[in-house]
Amino acid sequence: MNKNPLKKIREKIGQYYQENKVEAPPKIEEREFGVGNQEKINYRHLGLESEEELNKYLVTEKPRFISYSAAYYEYPEKRPMKRKQYKKGDLAFDLDHECPHNTLTCYQCLEKVKQETQKLIDNFLINDFGYDPEQIEINFSGNKGYHVKIRDPRAQSLTEQGRKEIVDYIMANDLITPEFEKNGPKPTEKGWRGKIAREILKFVKQSDREKMKELGINSGKIKHLIDRREQIIQGIKKGNYDTLPGPETLWERVLEKRKIQLKTPIDHPVTLDTSRLMRLPDTIHGGSSLLAKEISREELEDFNPFNHAVVFGEEPTNIKITKETPKIHLNNETHGPYESGQEIETKEYVAVFLASKQHAKPEW
Ligand SMILES: [Zn+2]
Repeated sequence: MNKNPLKKIREKIGQYYQENKVEAPPKIEEREFGVGNQEKINYRHLGLESEEELNKYLVTEKPRFISYSAAYYEYPEKRPMKRKQYKKGDLAFDLDHECPHNTLTCYQCLEKVKQETQKLIDNFLINDFGYDPEQIEINFSGNKGYHVKIRDPRAQSLTEQGRKEIVDYIMANDLITPEFEKNGPKPTEKGWRGKIAREILKFVKQSDREKMKELGINSGKIKHLIDRREQIIQGIKKGNYDTLPGPETLWERVLEKRKIQLKTPIDHPVTLDTSRLMRLPDTIHGGSSLLAKEISREELEDFNPFNHAVVFGEEPTNIKITKETPKIHLNNETHGPYESGQEIETKEYVAVFLASKQHAKPEW
């Protein structure tokens, strides 16, 4: 008898949890969990007391999705939310990207999100806010991006307003263009003024005619910039931009490059709303079959989810393709393309991936 396809995917997920233990988040007994099989979260307000209980739950229930709260509660199981008694919350960021390309394995889009994630961690969380790298947890979301959580007590005690200010700062929301005539930004200043002054200084020091042209600077100004380069550099160091033509254009251009592209805070409540649940690291994302792998800042450098988050094996496995499927790239191999209706025998990890993406029906 042909069992429900979701059940078959969950059997594979259950097998994975039987062989691989998942580490509990810090203070697991104060976290709220949410699980889902049809949807990402069908049920929340779940409490798990220990790592042992978590692993037992994963093996017996085989949830397609499991998430947990950035928040810590006195009573995570109680509802409504108010009765849980909020204590504090990790400062969490969810970075992702809607892929416009016709592919199920878009390396390009995930690389873009990865660069944003690196920028967020290095330039803002560590450099500007001074958070200890040891207290920053990073994981692949399992599908379209990365999650970053900060466990520094100063971050955990932030109010919603404080979290909003952080989001506004990193996204450069409502940043006012400074006056460049007299007291312009100096490279030694903190915050955005310093960031931008340093960037403009770098531009003036390093740019040649071609780069300036690319920025839309006209040839008269380029000549001026090159002829008086040393004088302009000395000026910027003192916050004097009198001799620099069009500092506002440079400011805007640099800002675009430096700020973090999160979705707007309105569609992006994860950072602000600590009651939101996020994927539990090192569990399987049932919409892709990839592992929401926890990684260090160093590992992030070369991390490619389509190679490093694949957990299933190579046993020959049967599926029936149900949707036209472009080529996919997993584990450094290319599979497909496939047409709808095709019955194929492929490697287990390809089969589970396509079934999870609902491009194929499990025939195993
Ligand atoms: Zn893409």
